[in-house]
Amino acid sequence: MLKLYDTLTREKRPFVPLEPGKVRMYVCGPTVYAEPHIGNFRVFVMGDVVRRWLEYRGYDVFYVMNITDIDDKTIRDSGREGVTLKEFTERYTRIFLQGLDRMNIKRATLYPKATEHIDDMIKFIEGLLKKGLAYVASDGVYYDIDKFPGYGKLSRIDLSKVRKTERMLADEYDKESPQDFALWKRSTPEELRRGIYYDSPWGPGRPGWHIECSVMSQKYLGETLDIHMGGEDLIFPHHENEIAQSEGLTGKPFVRYWLHVAFLKIRGEKMSKSLGNIIRISEALRDYSPDALRYFYLSAHYRRQIDYTDEVMEGAEAAVRRLGNTLSIVEDALRQPEEKLSYDDEEQRFLEEIKTLKHRFEASMDDDLDTHGAIDALHAMSKTLNTYAEGRPNKGVLLRGYEVYRRLLSTLGLLERREETGELLERALNLIVEVRERLRAERRYELSDWIREELRSIGVILEDTPKGTRWRIEA
Ligand SMILES: [Zn+2]
Repeated sequence: MLKLYDTLTREKRPFVPLEPGKVRMYVCGPTVYAEPHIGNFRVFVMGDVVRRWLEYRGYDVFYVMNITDIDDKTIRDSGREGVTLKEFTERYTRIFLQGLDRMNIKRATLYPKATEHIDDMIKFIEGLLKKGLAYVASDGVYYDIDKFPGYGKLSRIDLSKVRKTERMLADEYDKESPQDFALWKRSTPEELRRGIYYDSPWGPGRPGWHIECSVMSQKYLGETLDIHMGGEDLIFPHHENEIAQSEGLTGKPFVRYWLHVAFLKIRGEKMSKSLGNIIRISEALRDYSPDALRYFYLSAHYRRQIDYTDEVMEGAEAAVRRLGNTLSIVEDALRQPEEKLSYDDEEQRFLEEIKTLKHRFEASMDDDLDTHGAIDALHAMSKTLNTYAEGRPNKGVLLRGYEVYRRLLSTLGLLERREETGELLERALNLIVEVRERLRAERRYELSDWIREELRSIGVILEDTPKGTRWRIEA
């Protein structure tokens, strides 16, 4: 039986959803102000694996991930760039979705956007005001954390440090500042000038970040969620505030299992802007395959920190190649003429081993999603398959082992796209485009035109735009 570690109770408990056979799951999604980095993607991949594992266990999963397209950061950075908020956030939403596809992450059931739920947020805040949990101040509406008895129960912060004279307008703040937080922020002159505001009973303004998740999770999943996931950096204040808002309004438990994914470090250091060591997903995928990156994420338990180094990543690339080689070895054996039709001790032993390793894999995953243990079982299974396939296998028996192996790989989202050369093709085409641009810079037009024509003849169209040359594959 599946057990999950719940951050709220700090214990591993058998997973029992609210409604038998169904799972309502919510994972805090991206703030679309930059391309997500590889730490963000650790959470997205883990969300994907949780969902895949629940589906493997027969659950019907309704999975929602929000898109934060209005907050302090999106407003600030779109302003710096001089583009509208919508234009800015749509660009990064596209980049986020492309990243999901490149990482073979199955799409969630829904990706609701904050800006499309403003009316729901206003209603929710009105409800909190009516319950006396919020109050109106000169610069917005605030949640009064003193009025919610359970405040601090998730993060177990020290509330004695609260200085009630202060209020927190910013979306993000640290653990040392448990204060009343903004639900609705009255527009600044800059926001008014840029047209970033919504009318509300408290004047033109916009929602705070925390209210977005309480509102969108309730709208699509109901008052109580089975699983709520996010990075461990969201425990405080974000998830603490979500609990205060949601439970404050409904009086019902908000979440049955809180899952938090640990930090990812870069060469032993915390990833941060100030250290300048942030690695975006597309940067990582320039050096390593998506399978290697996924393997790296899953090689440690999700509640343990992992360290991204060249050495570790090269190890992941090699390990995932070994797992993939087994598929090739077996597929090759299956294409050979049948030599052995009998079914004797050897076959029985082989199938027994596959079964034992499958159970080992399942037991690991059921133990709070121990992907590390699950991967160990896959490596053992890979060896078993190699040995049997390289002898004189009974093809029917080999195929049974192969199908188990593939299915388990697929619950981790690994090696599902072996046949596709998409990644490589993309890199090769980018290289050709770059070569052509250098030729043009040197005014070697004959050669650059020849490249364009040759590519066109195989269905790749080059378009010269003011921002450089782009390629697309003709449909
Ligand atoms: Zn959230």
